[in-house]
Amino acid sequence: MTTFVLATHNAHKVGELRRILGERLGPHELIGYDGPEPVEDGDTFEANALIKARAANAHTGQPAIADDSGISVRALGGAPGIHSARYAGTRSDVDNYTLLLENLKGEADRAAEFVCAAALVDGDREIVVRGVWPGEVLEAPSGAHGFGYDPVFKPEGVATSSAELTPDEKNAISHRARAFGQLVEELRRIYG
Ligand code: IMP
Repeated sequence: MTTFVLATHNAHKVGELRRILGERLGPHELIGYDGPEPVEDGDTFEANALIKARAANAHTGQPAIADDSGISVRALGGAPGIHSARYAGTRSDVDNYTLLLENLKGEADRAAEFVCAAALVDGDREIVVRGVWPGEVLEAPSGAHGFGYDPVFKPEGVATSSAELTPDEKNAISHRARAFGQLVEELRRIYG
């Protein structure tokens, strides 16, 4: 049995990842990380996921798992992208999605995608994979589940915002589920 350190301080993400990984982790266990947070100065989701996983691995000596995620909007040239968490200059979800709606006012092209890069770093290897959840930005927020931009994101093939999905519904199809589904396959291949 291997203990993986989950390198995130975001309680919402920890909750979602515990649910997503849950039984699929087999005999292995997942513990939280409360060590120092590195500077996320990579210019891609993948680079930042690796920076976080490397820091947790270096600090704990345990295999570390991390993700970096955000929303990329086509009409804004991919913004806010890796800057999603601090788009409005604060860490407030409402400020962030309000600014996004303002920046898209009058814009007909609402195409967007949530992106998640998931990384594993242990002493021997670094693995990083990507999950994408396509959809569009709504005109106004709705729904009370989830976090971040969920109230203003309508996933492709879904009639509501992602904040109107139950946690189980979201965790079955989200960018995070898609990335960690792939990562779990790698973990099971490496660690059994
Ligand atoms: P990170 O902690 O650097 O990965 O920042 C991710 C940011 O992207 C979050 O603070 C949210 O604003 C946004 N984000 C990522 N995943 C989701 C999601 O599943 N729903 C809504 N917003 C998300």
